[in-house]
Amino acid sequence: MTEKDLTHTIVLRASLATALKKKYNATLEKVLKIIDRESPNTFAKVDSLFPAIAKELDISLEQLNKILKYYVKISFHRGKIYAQDSYNKMTGQTVAIGFNMRHERALNNVLRMGFNDVKNVNDDIKNNLRKSLYKSIELGEGSAGARKRIEGVFKELPAAEKKKFQTNVRITPEYRAQLIARTSIIKAYNNSAIEQLKQFGFEKKKWVSKLDSRTSSNCKELNGQVVGIDDYFSTKKGERFYSPPGHVNCRSLIQGVLR
Ligand SMILES: [Zn+2]
Repeated sequence: MTEKDLTHTIVLRASLATALKKKYNATLEKVLKIIDRESPNTFAKVDSLFPAIAKELDISLEQLNKILKYYVKISFHRGKIYAQDSYNKMTGQTVAIGFNMRHERALNNVLRMGFNDVKNVNDDIKNNLRKSLYKSIELGEGSAGARKRIEGVFKELPAAEKKKFQTNVRITPEYRAQLIARTSIIKAYNNSAIEQLKQFGFEKKKWVSKLDSRTSSNCKELNGQVVGIDDYFSTKKGERFYSPPGHVNCRSLIQGVLR
């Protein structure tokens, strides 16, 4: 997040103003001055402003926290619209995302990806997968762009390495590239959303599936499951997921649950 990015300041200013106007009309101007002076553009900065604001309003931090919850609700709604737009542009799919998330977090997430589910590839290849995904998220190429980059990684491999992972005629480099691109991008975004939810103080997360004729049996079962923010969702068969995707082309997402 750059210093120039004042999204949070703007959201905080507007939302707090709405919340405070009802109760503390007289001192609202002073509070807005504090916000404008500090221009918080990270959540840590927002948090650090609260004691000063509480002092200005002559209310307890506890009371102010109640207002904060109201602010979180509003900013989440705005963030959701913003995030959904950029996510859909990137992936070329229309997926409903339930949170405010940023490219930066998704990028960091890609760098930490283990690719444990990608079989028969060595660490060098995994590093190249990471680089490809990073680049395509950074450039906003979406999953189609990521697929092309990953295909490139596979095509450049020495014949011996290629043979290792092409265990089946159907499992072509193109096919594997597509699987990896789609699932990794969705994973990166969902994991980054969980990090953001934690920062907002959400203690639990909920699995929300898109229910229609294409919904997988796992996602039907997981729909609505609520677990601790760091815990795993699980099916009766014992499959565990930290976040969607539950499978290739999964359309499920995470929602925060406050308590
Ligand atoms: Zn699914």
